[in-house]
Amino acid sequence: VKADGKMISVEQAVALVQANAVPLPPVDIDVDKAVGRVLAEPVCSDVDMPPFDKSAMDGYAVRAADLGDAPTELTVIEDIPAGTVPTQRVEPGSCSRIMTGAPVPERADAVIRVEDTAAADDGRVRFERPVRPGDNICRLGEDVRSGQEVLPVGRLLRPVDIGVASAAGATVLSVHPLPSVAVIATGDEVIEIDQKPEGAQIRNSNSHLVCSRLRQFGIAAEYLGIAPDDSAGLTRAIQEGLKRDVMVISGGVSMGDYDLVPGVLVEQGVELLFQSVAVKPGRPVVFGRRGDGLVFGLPGNPVANLVATEMFLLPAIRRRMGEESPGPVFARAVLTKPVSHKGGRTSLKPVTIERTPDGWRATPVEYHGSADLAGAARGDAFVEIPQGTLELPAEATVRLLTFPDNWRTSNGT
Ligand code: AMP
Ligand code: MG
Repeated sequence: VKADGKMISVEQAVALVQANAVPLPPVDIDVDKAVGRVLAEPVCSDVDMPPFDKSAMDGYAVRAADLGDAPTELTVIEDIPAGTVPTQRVEPGSCSRIMTGAPVPERADAVIRVEDTAAADDGRVRFERPVRPGDNICRLGEDVRSGQEVLPVGRLLRPVDIGVASAAGATVLSVHPLPSVAVIATGDEVIEIDQKPEGAQIRNSNSHLVCSRLRQFGIAAEYLGIAPDDSAGLTRAIQEGLKRDVMVISGGVSMGDYDLVPGVLVEQGVELLFQSVAVKPGRPVVFGRRGDGLVFGLPGNPVANLVATEMFLLPAIRRRMGEESPGPVFARAVLTKPVSHKGGRTSLKPVTIERTPDGWRATPVEYHGSADLAGAARGDAFVEIPQGTLELPAEATVRLLTFPDNWRTSNGT
């Protein structure tokens, strides 16, 4: 079975990916390993925050009424470092020395910063100005009540959220797991990167690009090597790849005589949902499904492989990891220079982007087409030249396919 040639729009393709990528069933995970994951159950606090009326300053806990006719002096009756429970009530005429984070003693209703006081005789302290009740006291439960939800289902956990969960006593979180991913290259001309190409050979850059992109999400994809352009070899590789949550295979998906991938996928029970998308580079791209398992047949040309990775593969992966809006992300920018193409399909060309007070500005870079990965690497994004437009002039407002987190690093797993 060859590609049936039915071309769909980028929007339709993105929607099909969204409709078919289902989040993986939740697992429990140690809070310290949960950054970048999506919460499957809410986190509720098991404590009030703060857990008691707490001093916000190093200073003195006083009765505001005692300072009504400041300047005045009060007797210090106790020292309350953080971590200790006060033992004395603050009776009229007295005060307690108190540190940030310590519980406010009974009957005191304000804290005065040490900077606003002066030592006086006989262990007394002098206060120059009056104070309002409540000053410099964090009230019990004013931030969070015990039992209150502090993190909602669907939250993509940031370090700040890990801090919140930790404070709430959630040592284990329910999150969507990382999908298992197999990455396969195809092509009789494709060789491993530690080899020097001879004759008509080319190094396998695609698998390494894809694996590194997934590593940024903590996913250690399994590279299953290079399959030959024959049905038997492809079948073996694809049977192995289909054991994972997501299989990514590059090359062999267009209209050539040796583009056997779609046919083998169908033989292995994969339902093909699309095989051709109206975008250049990136037209021959296969998306399929077997059960909940997803299959991507990415184009062999490296820039097309990159575009398809960003537009289809990553959103699917992020959806499987539970993200509600997994992209792709399109942004607006203004061109600094004209950019053109030969027409036909919507095309994407690499640009550098720069943030200015008026928004993003995009500058095309030297680029020779879908095999020119080094050209694409000069850019930070792709500008979209719509179908039917031959040239976009300088100062035109354009749409960008951006890689907002393309340079996000992760030590992975
Ligand atoms: P194909 O999609 O198999 O027709 O391949 C299209 C072009 O991409 C050909 O020039 C291939 O040599 C090249 N290509 C295929 N696979 C890879 C790969 N893994 N890494 C780099 N280039 C590739
Ligand atoms: Mg090929």
